[in-house]
Amino acid sequence: MSDTATSPALKNPHKAALRPDILFPLFASVQSLPGVGEKTRDALERLVGSRVKDLVFHLPTSLIDRRAMPPLALAQSGSTITAKVRVEEYHAPPPSKQRNQQRPFRVLCSNDTGSITLIFFKTFPDYIEKLLPLGQERIISGKVERNYGVLQMAHPDHIAPVSQWEAICTVEPVYPLTYGLVHKHLVKTIRAALSHLPALPEWGDPHFIKKNQWKSWRTSLEALHQPQSAKDLDLNSPLLSRLAYDELFASQLALQLTRKRVRVQGEVIHGDKTLQDKLRTALRFTLTQAQETALAEIQADQASPSRMMRLLQGDVGSGKTVVALFAMLNVVECGKQAALMVPTEILARQHAQWIKKVTTHLGITTALLTGRTSTKERKEILEALQTGDIQMVIGTHALFQEQVAFQDLGLAVIDEQHRFGVEQRLALTNKGKQVDTLLMTATPIPRTLTMTLYGDMDVSRLSGKPAGRLPIDTRVLSLAKMDEVVAGIARAITKGTKIYWICPLVEESETSDLAAAQERYENFSAHFSEKVGLVHGKMAAEERDPVMLAFRDGQVQLLVATTVVEVGVDVPDATLIVIEHAERFGLSQLHQLRGRVGRGSEQSTCLLLYDPKTTGQVGRSRLAIMRDTEDGFRIAEEDLRLRGSGEILGTKQSGLPNFKFANLDVHSGLLEAARDDAKLLFSHDPELTSERGQAARILLYLFEYDQCMKYVRTG
Ligand code: ADP
Ligand code: MG
Repeated sequence: MSDTATSPALKNPHKAALRPDILFPLFASVQSLPGVGEKTRDALERLVGSRVKDLVFHLPTSLIDRRAMPPLALAQSGSTITAKVRVEEYHAPPPSKQRNQQRPFRVLCSNDTGSITLIFFKTFPDYIEKLLPLGQERIISGKVERNYGVLQMAHPDHIAPVSQWEAICTVEPVYPLTYGLVHKHLVKTIRAALSHLPALPEWGDPHFIKKNQWKSWRTSLEALHQPQSAKDLDLNSPLLSRLAYDELFASQLALQLTRKRVRVQGEVIHGDKTLQDKLRTALRFTLTQAQETALAEIQADQASPSRMMRLLQGDVGSGKTVVALFAMLNVVECGKQAALMVPTEILARQHAQWIKKVTTHLGITTALLTGRTSTKERKEILEALQTGDIQMVIGTHALFQEQVAFQDLGLAVIDEQHRFGVEQRLALTNKGKQVDTLLMTATPIPRTLTMTLYGDMDVSRLSGKPAGRLPIDTRVLSLAKMDEVVAGIARAITKGTKIYWICPLVEESETSDLAAAQERYENFSAHFSEKVGLVHGKMAAEERDPVMLAFRDGQVQLLVATTVVEVGVDVPDATLIVIEHAERFGLSQLHQLRGRVGRGSEQSTCLLLYDPKTTGQVGRSRLAIMRDTEDGFRIAEEDLRLRGSGEILGTKQSGLPNFKFANLDVHSGLLEAARDDAKLLFSHDPELTSERGQAARILLYLFEYDQCMKYVRTG
C-alpha cells in the first residue's frame, strides 16, 4: 500500500534546500554533539539514525527511579536507592590464578544511617582506588540486596562526586540500546541533543490542544525524556498522545497535499453505453449485485466534474477486473483512452488476453505493453497511443515510463495497487490532463488503515464471490502428518488435480526461503517427475512465466512456490493448495494464498500445515479463524486484533507508514481528529500561508514530507 504521502517514496532522504532554518539543528549530524565520534555515530546509526532529530525521537521505554534515599539500615532488599557515603575500607580478594574464579573486591562504606558493602567482580584495585578513594565521600546509586543482614550493592549504576547529587538522585530514563553503545553515554548524548530542541510555532488546533491539556511539542518531548513516573510513558499519556497527534497530523496533511494536487477538476465522463452493452452480451456471466453496485459508484464518480480517486476493494476472485473493464469502456465511449497497470508481466498478459477476448467484437484496439515488448512493437504501440489508435492499454511498470504519451488518457486503473509507489501512480495519472484513478486491491484493509494510508479516499467494496463458487474446504493439520499429505498429493495428481505447494516463509533471509522451496521441489520431482514446477521470487520473469503457463496448461500439476503466487494469478482449475508452516504467515497473507484456489466451479481444498512444536495457543486460534471463515474482512480484523496493525498486511511492501510515536491500535481516535483537522486547515488555507499554515509547513518538514512541499507555493 505505498499510496501514501507517508510512504518512503515521499520522504526525501536528501537534505532539502527549502527546509526551514529553525529545523537545522535537528537535522545536524550527531557528530556535532560533544563526545560523539565515528564509533558512537555508527552505533547510533544502527539504533535510530545519525541525526540529532533521530536521537530526540528515541524515547525511553522505561525508567529507574533513583529518588529513594532511605536510611541504610532500613533499605529494602531489591530496591534501587541513592546514598551519600564515606569510603571506609577495602577488602581485596585473596590472589587467585584464575581471574574467573576470583572472589569479589569489597568496599565498605557508611554514613550516619548505616553501612553498605559495594561489591565488584573481576575488577582491578587501581580502578577502585580511583573511583572510590579511601576516606572520601561519594554518591552511589543502584539496586541493593540484603545478605544475612548485610546491605550490599553489586556494581553500582552510579558512583560520583558529591557535587553530582542532583543529577543522579532523580528519575532516570531507560532507552533501548544496541551493541557498541553504553547506556550512560546514550543518556548523556540524548541530553545534549535535547539542548538543541528549537521552540517551534504551534501547528495544532488551539482548542483541541487545550481540550486535551497538552503542552507544546518541545515541552512534551523534553518531558518524555525525563519521565516522572511510568505513567508518563504510557501510550495514552498526554505527552505521548501529543507527539502521536503531531505525527498523524503531519501524515494527514501530507496526504491532503498530495490529494489536493490530484483531486483537481476532472472531466465529465458519461459514455453512451454502446460498448458496455456489447460487453454484457459477450460475457459468459452476468455481473453480481456487488459488482453492479461498485460499477455504479465508479461511474457516478466518472460523471462528476471532480476527479475520481476511488479504491475498489474486493477479495481475491471477487471479479474486480471486469468492473474495471466497464469503467474503461465508459471512457472509450467518450473518445478517450484508458490504461490498466498491473505489477507483473504474467498478470499483464493474463489481463490483456482476457480483455482482448471479451472485447473482440467491440471494434476497439487494445495493446499490451511490458518490459518485454519488442523494440519494434513498442515503437508501434507508443505511436498508436499518441495518435489515439489504441484505446486501451494494459501493462506493467513500462506504462509510466517517460516515452509513453497518450492522445487523451481518461482513466488509469491500478491493480494490486500496493505494489506501486505513489510516485509511480502519479507518473501514470500525469500522462493525461484530468485522469480519473481507480485503485484495486485484494487486501482487505480495515477502516483505520485506509484512513492512514489514503486520508479519506472513496472506497467501493466487492463483498462475496461470483455466483456458483463453492466454499473452500480448509483444514488445519500438524506437519507430523506430512506422509499422509504427500500420499494424498500422489492420488490427486493421478486424478489430474492442479496443486499449489507453498513453502515455508523463513523470515531471516530470502535465500533460506529459496533453499526450502528448492529442496521440496527436488523431493517432489523425484516422486512425480516432470509434473512438478518451481517458482520463486528470485526468478526472472522469463524463467518464471513458462512455468506458470505450463501449470495453467496442465503440463505441470504440482507447482512448488514461495509467496510469489500471492499476486493475482488466475488458474481457475487449480483446486488444492498446501501451505507449509502456515503459522509463519500473516492471516491476510494466508487468505490471499488460499484465494489461488476456489476460482472455478469445482470444490477446492486448502491444507494449512503447522509445526506443533513452535505453534502456541494464539497461533492455533489464528489458523482456526482461517478454517472457520472465508470472509477477508473478518480475517483482516482478527489479524489486526491478534497481531497489531503493523503486521496486518503481512509483507514488507505493505507500505504502512512506520510511525515513531503513533500506534494505530491505540490512537485511532487521534487519527480521525488529525484527519479532520488537516482537512479543515486546508479548506481555510490551501496554500498553507496563514500563521498556522506556516507552522504546519514546519511540521511537514520535521516529519520529512519534503517531497509534498512541491504541491504548495513557496513562501
Ligand atoms: P480479482 O478480483 O481477484 O481480480 P478477477 O477479476 O480475476 O478477480 O475474477 C476472477 C474470475 O472470476 C475471472 O475468471 C472472472 O472472469 C470471473 N468472474 C468475474 N465476475 C464474474 C461473475 N459475475 N460471474 C462469474 N464469474 C465471474
Ligand atoms: Mg485481480
